[in-house]
Amino acid sequence: MSNRYSAWGRNYSDKVTVRMATDPQVREELVATVRRFVEREVLPVALELEHADEYPAAIVDGMRALGLFGITVPEEYGGLGLDLPTYTGVIEELAAGWMSLSGVLNTHVIAANLLKSCGTEEQRKRWLPPLAAGEIRGALSLSEPDAGSDTSALTCKAERDGDEYVITGTKMWVTNGVRAGLVALAARTAEGITCFMVEKEPGAERSGGISVSRNIGKLGYKGIETVEMVYDAHRVPADAVLGGDEGLGRGQHFILSALEVGRINIAARAVGVARAAFEAAIKYAQERETFGKPIAQHQAIQMKLADMGTQLQAARLLTEHAAELKEAGARCDVEAGMAKLFASEAAFEIATEAMRIHGGMGYTTELPVERYYRDAPLMIIGEGTNEIQRLVIARGLLQRYAID
Ligand SMILES: Cc1cc2nc3c(=O)[nH]c(=O)nc-3n(C[C@H](O)[C@H](O)[C@H](O)COP(=O)(O)OP(=O)(O)OC[C@H]3O[C@@H](n4cnc5c(N)ncnc54)[C@H](O)[C@@H]3O)c2cc1C
Repeated sequence: MSNRYSAWGRNYSDKVTVRMATDPQVREELVATVRRFVEREVLPVALELEHADEYPAAIVDGMRALGLFGITVPEEYGGLGLDLPTYTGVIEELAAGWMSLSGVLNTHVIAANLLKSCGTEEQRKRWLPPLAAGEIRGALSLSEPDAGSDTSALTCKAERDGDEYVITGTKMWVTNGVRAGLVALAARTAEGITCFMVEKEPGAERSGGISVSRNIGKLGYKGIETVEMVYDAHRVPADAVLGGDEGLGRGQHFILSALEVGRINIAARAVGVARAAFEAAIKYAQERETFGKPIAQHQAIQMKLADMGTQLQAARLLTEHAAELKEAGARCDVEAGMAKLFASEAAFEIATEAMRIHGGMGYTTELPVERYYRDAPLMIIGEGTNEIQRLVIARGLLQRYAID
């Protein structure tokens, strides 16, 4: 299988030729290219954009030029056709620079993966090429004000009317909701929960019967919108049902399966944030002196650094393992859950310890350390809270270790 990856004339790398999606050298080259992109384009501006809560339009253009919006989309539909371990490597780099950037990609990639795995050929041909090119952006709209962990409680409904469905309901927490041109939406039909691919006008607060009713303020995860959206008798053609008629009533299954990639994305983001926090801490610990020596020479600080480094390494290994299993087509609900659970808790602990190691400076908005501390909890909540992850992991383990 051949595959071309190009930095589109940008000076981050020479043109890189991708020969095999799973070739470790290819993976390393792309990840290194994204690391350089982050160093040059993201780190100098992330602090300012974060505190202004400003959408990183220029950075997103750069991500599009790097081909990242089509990273897992097969080449025949215009994507890079790269594998999940490569995707997680890229997400770690983006999140280490600014976690919000990984959120720009996550639900977009989930929408593309839903089409890739569950869409009809016609749906794939229609939407995957513009998604891969970043011409339209994808979003995932599963959660509702009264249905987050309990997705089976969702009330948004879609009623058949001739060749159309009429969608009515309120959706909550739609990341990328305003800028998206295609929303993978879960709604209740006569057959059960169905996934619709809903087209909307990107950037508009109103599009047909869809309106953005609230832009949700957040502790962290700044610069990227998370919104509430109301569907007021919004009409979509019947062919918007993901998977066609066979997809009716199978939406919850489709989306929960796609969320495994979402969980691996969250784990990789957590590794990125944890790495940034750890590296900031170990650098500062060697520079800052108290009682006549660098604080890194105090054993209390060394204990912290040892634990942080160990947690980081374990989080990355769990994440890589889950990505490899998913890529191989193996069942990985337990492993994706473990990676997400461990990496997000590790990121939170490492971010907290990094702040403590920085003393008073860690509490200021002059350094990114306080941002790691604010961003880390999202990974504990997003794509299924860690309480829910524990339930999923336990259920899977009890099946594997079942006794007669
Ligand atoms: C910034 C942000 C962005 C998001 N982006 C998206 C998005 O793009 N698309 C989307 O669809 N959703 C999105 N979400 C929603 C996210 O997936 C939900 O917030 C999450 O699943 C939790 O749902 P909830 O907020 O309704 O909490 P609840 O379900 O109300 O849970 C509240 C608490 O109860 C616990 N709990 C619930 N049930 C159980 C149980 N059975 N056993 C033990 N504990 C339990 C939970 O762990 C949690 O601690 C986003 C959320 C945030 C914060």
